[in-house]
Formats: sequence, C-alpha cells, structure tokens
Amino acid sequence: MIRIGQAGIPLSCKGRTNKDGLRYTKEILDLNAMEVQFVRGLYVMKDEEAAFMKEYSIENDVELHVHAPYYINLADDDEIELSFDKTIFSAKLAEKMGAKTVIIHPGYYGDKSEKKTLKNIIKNTKKLNKVFKKEKINTKLGIETMGKQKVFGSLDEVIEVCSNVKDIEPIIDIAHIHARGNGCLKNHEDFEEIFNKLNKLKLKHYVIHLTGILYEGGNEQYHLPIKKGDMPLAPLIEVILDNDYNVTLISESPLLEHDAVYIRLQVEKAIMKRTGREEADYRDIEKKKWKN
Ligand SMILES: [Zn+2]
Repeated sequence: MIRIGQAGIPLSCKGRTNKDGLRYTKEILDLNAMEVQFVRGLYVMKDEEAAFMKEYSIENDVELHVHAPYYINLADDDEIELSFDKTIFSAKLAEKMGAKTVIIHPGYYGDKSEKKTLKNIIKNTKKLNKVFKKEKINTKLGIETMGKQKVFGSLDEVIEVCSNVKDIEPIIDIAHIHARGNGCLKNHEDFEEIFNKLNKLKLKHYVIHLTGILYEGGNEQYHLPIKKGDMPLAPLIEVILDNDYNVTLISESPLLEHDAVYIRLQVEKAIMKRTGREEADYRDIEKKKWKN
C-alpha cells in the first residue's frame, strides 16, 4: 500500500491548527498521511485536539506520525535529560493522537568517535524504549537518517541502531541520504540498494521523507521543491511498485502539500504506465494490477 501526505499543516489551509490541517489533508487534498510537527520547540496540544486527531484519522484512514523537536542529542550524556524530556513529551502526545511513530534526529558525534557515538545512541535508545513501555506509549520511536557529516545518522548507522534496539523504526529520509552521499542517488540501482540494506530489519512498512535538496561536500544546505532538486523521483517509485513495498511518503519540501500531490501524480502515472489504463489511484493495493 502507498500512503502519501505532508509534514505539517498544508500551506494552502486557512486554519492553522493541526486539526484544520488533518481535515484539509483528507477532505481537500484527498491524501492519507500527515506528519504533525513539534519541531521548533515543545508544542502543547490540548487533549481535546489530540482526541479529535485520533478519532478523525481512524475514521478517515489517515496515518499520523509526529516529528519531535529538532534538537535532541542521544549521544551526549550531558544533554540526555533534556533530550529524553522532549522525546517523551512528544511521544505522549503522539500516543494520544494514535500516531504510528514519533520521529527524532538521534544526535551528534561532537568530539566522540563514530563507534562511541553509536554505542551511546544504542544505550540511550534502549533506555527511552523502557520509558515508553512504562508510560504505556505504543507509538514507536523513529530514528531519522541525517544529511550532514557531523550529525549521526547515515543509513548504515540508523540500520545498526535499529538492529540493536527492539521496536524502533528507521525513518528513511531519502533527501538526507542523497545529500550525505553528495548526490549519490541517481538511478534505479541506487534506490534499490537502500531497500537491500534495510532488508535485514525485515520491515513490513517504510516511512519515507521526500524533498528536493541542495547540498555541498556531502552536507545538506536546504530543502528545495522536488522538481528543483537533482534527485530523481521516478526510479524510487519504480522500486516501490516493483516490490510492492508498503510505504508512507511524506513530503518535507518547502512546497509541502503541493509536492505531496506531485508525488501522488507521479505514482499514478507510473501505475498507469504499468497497467495500460487511463486512470489509477495510488491507494490501489492490488499488486497484480501494478505488474507489467
Ligand atoms: Zn527530521
């Protein structure tokens, strides 16, 4: 199954609450996923709004994710308390909303080696998971691939954490992988390799972030509209359809929902090409219809 949505309240939505954004995502955009953003600091969501989010998203089949505040560092013991607070605060709200994952940026190397950083992050992620259990939080912790050399979170590192800690999910930020690899994603095989690497985690579902991206020397600089970036979308869609992967594609482009709708159109075009039909719906889950 393919789900598509955007990170945050759609730009074209007049109401500026998450509740407005969720309804707009379903009723106007006809998309079926949304990532709620708590990124710029601790966002307080009233219980009432969280309850609405849960009920509405279940009734209308919209999958929810939550992005925790950007600055979290699970690699440094001095910063761990605040990082735990921010993550758990976000996770509790995510749980109330019925969100599938609460997404964090795992941390920084600082002056530590890559190995030591990895060790610390694994240790602290395990601790966090224990708190999730104690607090009865069913929302899963998601660890994102990161787009800068000094930030922990290459695809290999994220996979390493996920294979060492039960019940956490890799969040596959494709543009970050592309930027960190200084433009490494060009063709079908490059995208296939991402999924081949992830294979060892035996995931049933992949959460994928998409945007165009500007990068230099293996470091992301800023997000661009998908069409302005140099990473192709078509081969990713082909790999997803070839393998019938169960994915959620979240647009993190500066154009948010406009690029989410663009992704949808590209997916539907690819399905039409395969089926030879003149229409397609990205929600169409029957594999055989997609096969050549
Ligand atoms: Zn992120």
